[in-house]
Amino acid sequence: MTKDIHIPLEDTLQKHFGYASFRPLQKEIIEHIIAGNDAVVLMPTGGGKSMCYQLPALVLDGLTLVVSPLIALMKDQVEALRSNGIQAAYLNSSLSSVEEAEINNDLQNGLIKLLYVSPERLFSGSFLSYLGTLNLKLIAIDEAHCISSWGHHFRPEYSKLAIVKKQFPAIPSVALTATADKAVRSDIGELLGLHQPKYFISSFDRPNLSLAVLPGRKKWEQIAQIANRHQDECGIIYCSSRKGTETIAAKLQNAGFSANFYHAGLKPDVRDAVQNEFIEGTTNIICATVAFGMGIDKSNVRFVIHHNLPKNLEGYYQEIGRAGRDGQPAETILFYSYADVQTQLNFIEDIDNEQYRQIQLAKLDRIKEYAEAQVCRRKILLSYFSETPPDKDCGNCDVCKNPPKYFDGTKLAQMALSAIYRSKEKVGITTLVDILKGAYSQSVREHGYDQIKTFGVGRETTNFAWVLYIQQFIQQGVLELDYKDSYRLKLTSISQDILFNNKSVRLVNYDTIKERQAEQKKVKIKPVKIALEYDDALFAALRGLRNDIASKIGKPSYVVFSNASLEDMSARMPATIQEFMQVNGVGQHKTRQYAEAFIRCIDDFTGRNPMPLDVLNFEEKSQKTVKKAKPKSTKTPTHLITWKLYEEGYDPEDISLQRQLAPTTVYTHLARLLTEGYEVDIFKLVSEEELESVKKAVKELGRMDMLKPYYDYLEEQINYGKLRVALAHIWETSG
Ligand code: ADP
Ligand code: ZN
Repeated sequence: MTKDIHIPLEDTLQKHFGYASFRPLQKEIIEHIIAGNDAVVLMPTGGGKSMCYQLPALVLDGLTLVVSPLIALMKDQVEALRSNGIQAAYLNSSLSSVEEAEINNDLQNGLIKLLYVSPERLFSGSFLSYLGTLNLKLIAIDEAHCISSWGHHFRPEYSKLAIVKKQFPAIPSVALTATADKAVRSDIGELLGLHQPKYFISSFDRPNLSLAVLPGRKKWEQIAQIANRHQDECGIIYCSSRKGTETIAAKLQNAGFSANFYHAGLKPDVRDAVQNEFIEGTTNIICATVAFGMGIDKSNVRFVIHHNLPKNLEGYYQEIGRAGRDGQPAETILFYSYADVQTQLNFIEDIDNEQYRQIQLAKLDRIKEYAEAQVCRRKILLSYFSETPPDKDCGNCDVCKNPPKYFDGTKLAQMALSAIYRSKEKVGITTLVDILKGAYSQSVREHGYDQIKTFGVGRETTNFAWVLYIQQFIQQGVLELDYKDSYRLKLTSISQDILFNNKSVRLVNYDTIKERQAEQKKVKIKPVKIALEYDDALFAALRGLRNDIASKIGKPSYVVFSNASLEDMSARMPATIQEFMQVNGVGQHKTRQYAEAFIRCIDDFTGRNPMPLDVLNFEEKSQKTVKKAKPKSTKTPTHLITWKLYEEGYDPEDISLQRQLAPTTVYTHLARLLTEGYEVDIFKLVSEEELESVKKAVKELGRMDMLKPYYDYLEEQINYGKLRVALAHIWETSG
């Protein structure tokens, strides 16, 4: 590989990652870093932060150190890099000493481009001075908000990171984060000791996400409606409790939806399976605690529901950010109730550290303000996260769509306040509503509230409307919810003015809320399919192939290809290596490994004539300097190379490893060899039983050139490779 800095960055991007262009800000950031400067990068989740140091790592002639706090994410990233043929490794507590020794060896030999370490690891033993002996060229600090005690993910070891910059003052450093309010943000550069860092802040706006906050009553009914209008689409429902995730998932399943639950109480392998099924599209709806979603790269999530109020706006925004990554419309709904505020307050009460407790309280206040807002919700969010909040309303939140209609609520306020006064400030919201409505509830009877003058004065207003109005009274300080006294309602100085000085109160009409709910029911969000038109069955076949390969190599499936890549592949249906390289997310390395298998799968599916593929030499050909490709006839056909190995006694798995071909490809070769009269022992490849069931399928379906129908008929029990061999054998023997 040449380290020629003059190679355009776009070419490096295409070659290694298979992407045609940069996302907003990526290129500016990368150029800034390569030029030797420090930077702080703020991008929303999914914005493409990692590329901002991964690409410089390839261009710079030496080692890039990446500090990352999450072991699982570290592993994912390293696997993704390796799947693109980039030498990367991680060091953390999960490795054995043998594995570590190997990595150290590679490091000393300059074989590793990116090294991921946990902060604990970085400061253990003499690691820092060891780093000094390596050819360090760049330091990247991921999840940089962990350094600020203001943040919700404070990590004590992060506060030591300034030492690293001191130790390596001349090495450019970049800090990256997705979740930083303004207080955290200003901390980052300073606490890390960066040298005049430039701040790159990409827009946090996600205009395709609709925002709505609905009263948290009859939640299941609302959820069922939402799920109904998203038939066969994907969504996430966040719940505050593990039990909640299980209950809702069960209800959804009973109602016929494809749903599952996910929380930290599940065994790791179960959790992984649930997550993978969601990513791969086998499960549509996941009910989960906030443990779910970190590092998930799934583009077609169409709705995110918050069953309960999140702790703070950072968490909330990150969670709704998992919807609509493909840029298509997606909806987000937050259910709001005081009960949830109370739950959060109880958690906060238990925090020992006084300063931290205050911060959490302040954060809860901000998300309450958001939930109770009667102004554009997106404006509130963006002014929390962005440097310059927008001056226009968004038009895509419930408040914008149904602006509040106000009315004079003075009389209603007087009724409520006088009932509180007469019941000696001893009632909470529910009992107050009972009194106003004249309901003989247990609490009313027990305390004789049916005897007070205001009993039943508010009959004409519905229960639900009363609850909403009382909430507004609390928001306006007309009365107070006393958390310290069993959530009883108390009078305030404003109450006095309303009761005795005729001070007026403005309320948002209950109809507004009704209309917002109705609006929510109306909207049928159907993503407009833009360029990508493809055959779902082809996509399924490619997905099957990908999953086969992934399980063979023991890696998560996205390491082979993401769903987005498979969608693009299904739409483009590449027939040649050159066309294959055009597929989104396909670089040189993956072309070398997988092009043949996937192109052949498409050939089979479409029944088109396969083009000759020269996988081993495509690199030469794709280089413009090469004048003429060698005539094909001088080369041994690829299936004959497989034959040679097969003859020498290697089994298909060995051959696939040795030749770096997908196992299915090797089986394709063997099938072809069978047809061409080579002596391939079919029973070394498929069992008698398998052959019998394929024969049965053939009897049932007749002779076809496509594999897919047989594959489906056999309920995906026999993989494409074996199927092909079995069919070749059947065609040969049946004449
Ligand atoms: P973040 O860390 O900001 O949440 P990632 O770095 O994980 O986001 O990137 C999200 C996804 O976008 C990844 O699948 C990544 O490969 C992809 N991606 C990054 N840069 C580009 C680009 N320029 N073009 C297309 N996809 C990109
Ligand atoms: Zn709005």
